[in-house]
Amino acid sequence: MDRRDDQGWVEVICGPMFSGKSEELIRRITRYHIARVPTQTFKPLIDDRYSDDHVVSHSSLTTAAEPVGDSGELLRRVRGQTVVVGIDEGQFFDQGLVAVVEQLAASGKKVIVAGLDLDYLGRSFEPIPSLMTRAEYVTKSLAVCHRCGGAGMFTQRVIASDELVVLGAEGAYEARCRRCYDPTEGQQETFGLAR
Ligand code: ADP
Ligand code: MG
Ligand code: ZN
Repeated sequence: MDRRDDQGWVEVICGPMFSGKSEELIRRITRYHIARVPTQTFKPLIDDRYSDDHVVSHSSLTTAAEPVGDSGELLRRVRGQTVVVGIDEGQFFDQGLVAVVEQLAASGKKVIVAGLDLDYLGRSFEPIPSLMTRAEYVTKSLAVCHRCGGAGMFTQRVIASDELVVLGAEGAYEARCRRCYDPTEGQQETFGLAR
């Protein structure tokens, strides 16, 4: 038997909104389902868009998911027999997720975390950047820039709000490329600035 069969590791899937992170997580988890490998998928309680017991992509792929309040609850919910642990919207977890993911990998589990690496102001969105440094495999997904069709790396908020998290508001975000991304765009409305 391949010695690596029982080895744990960490995979991170990062990128902006609409880049296919959830789709890719669902694809990887589904392959393990087909192979009859025991999996568990989690998502933060905060993310109640579409469904509270599934991960759903913008293209309507789904996989069952358990909502959890924080990284500690996630750790307590992982069963001993589980081999693959999927986590969506990793950026909405506390920083403790880094230690939890490392503990799971050390105990032989394959952990796949999807999440935003940047917030809508273009700042590092923890804990994803830290998880990337702890991961064997990192996949950076790009979206199609909503404005020009280029390589969309940023998440542009197109409504006015100062909140870090504005969830699921239809039309609140667009993927933008380096040239089309402008983090001050929504703020100009917030502060009533003239262009
Ligand atoms: P994420 O989890 O990264 O937000 P999803 O996996 O939920 O992304 O959705 C990816 C899907 O979103 C794509 O396959 C496509 O059908 C759709 N989509 C909508 N807008 C865009 C865009 N601007 N760029 C790429 N995909 C988009
Ligand atoms: Mg997603
Ligand atoms: Zn663009």
